[in-house]
Amino acid sequence: MKQVFSLLGIAILLLFAYATFNAMNFGSSTEQSVDDVIIELKRENIPERLAEALMFKTISEQDKADIDYETFVALHAYIDAEFPLIREKLTKEVVNDYSLLYTWQGSNSDLQPVLLLSHMDVVPVVPGTEDKWLHQPFSGDIADGVIWGRGAVDDKLSVFGILEAVEYLLDENYQPKRTYYLAFGHDEEKGGPDGAKKIGELLRDRGVKALYGIDEGGFVIDGSIAGLERDIAMVNVSEKGYVSLQLSVTGAGGHSSAPLAETAVSILSHAVANVSDNKFPVDTSVLTRMGEAVAGELLLYQKAIIANLGLLEPIIEVVAEKNPLLNAFTRTSTAPTMLSGSPKENVLPIFATAVINHRIMPGETIESTMAFVENAIDDERVKVTVINESTDPSPVSSTTDSGYLIITKTIQQVSSEDPVIVPGMLQAGTDTKHYVEVADNLYRFIFTKVDPTENVVHGTNERVEVESYLNTIRFFVQLIINTDESQ
Ligand SMILES: [Zn+2]
Repeated sequence: MKQVFSLLGIAILLLFAYATFNAMNFGSSTEQSVDDVIIELKRENIPERLAEALMFKTISEQDKADIDYETFVALHAYIDAEFPLIREKLTKEVVNDYSLLYTWQGSNSDLQPVLLLSHMDVVPVVPGTEDKWLHQPFSGDIADGVIWGRGAVDDKLSVFGILEAVEYLLDENYQPKRTYYLAFGHDEEKGGPDGAKKIGELLRDRGVKALYGIDEGGFVIDGSIAGLERDIAMVNVSEKGYVSLQLSVTGAGGHSSAPLAETAVSILSHAVANVSDNKFPVDTSVLTRMGEAVAGELLLYQKAIIANLGLLEPIIEVVAEKNPLLNAFTRTSTAPTMLSGSPKENVLPIFATAVINHRIMPGETIESTMAFVENAIDDERVKVTVINESTDPSPVSSTTDSGYLIITKTIQQVSSEDPVIVPGMLQAGTDTKHYVEVADNLYRFIFTKVDPTENVVHGTNERVEVESYLNTIRFFVQLIINTDESQ
């Protein structure tokens, strides 16, 4: 007994020593010491131009037949009319009728180009919520220093932010060294199959290999949400994958008065329960990476927790069960969403199906997810098939390569109060995935402050403060200058 106690005691001591050592050596800051840069935007009507763009109902309707494609063409014409220098100096291509690709040719073709990405479509307004908007979603209203409307943050502000930045630089007679591709898809909210995917293929076929690409998918948020004093700039370096798996069971059918011991529905139910109960393994690498970035802001005990997440996996397993956000950040998620069986209460099911939606953790694949699910079901009567578009997780982009360093330096230069920069993971999907083959690294970040508790992305009362939008433009101006200066 004594020996067991002492062994346990040594183990605990070792663990404690290891944990403390980890905490003390924890945190690698990529913050560079830079001076703030003041960019004076001189063009008139910058906020009004975005507000007017929000009046174009470029809505990605669920059913393709309901999409008003002519509105996209009208938006193209609006851009042509409002950005005369871009029209004059950049090469514009309309890709697959409704997406836009601009090429701003650099003077040094030895340097890798850069992708500035965003999308022109918006999600619909949920029917019945129109009267909850303080300003109508397509009114183009500006009131009290705020631009209101669907697309104000997702994602017309970056389409117009990029355009205003390039127009500003052209007006300054700026000649870029690198080539910049401005790519604006028209169906991001539907997964981008007709827009960004086609642009990505076009660039790939031309042999483009960009230094980096920057797209939507992260904002500046109030740090107090995470208990920090400084704001947080979420520069997301990875994106979860996506797959919906259909589980199906074929039964004999017949009258429900004389059933077999199991029907297609009961077999299917066991399968769904098994998938739900068999959680995917916990992976703390994303949390650790994010924790490292904020380490400078943490107390020693908090650092000790973050530095030892690997050791704490069993505890995280338990906590994640009750915390959907923690769960989503640490493993491939499992969400049973659809079920169907017999069409009538007294008819035995001939065919029963369930759909389970998974968001796949970087490091895993569609294939490994499917194998894990089949293994959890362990019943050959249940067929598992992939339905709809699925995507593997994007490769994790570097936090030490020049693209990341340029972005982080730019954030610090244009922010009056430097936010803590956190290389996070996006749980939803963006068009970024369509550019994996044409860029060494891809980052998901828009320099705009949003309040995540307000749910403005896809929500009611989508809006952006005028000052925040002007900062988005300043960010893109400085980003291009910094990118040109880097080798
Ligand atoms: Zn978007």
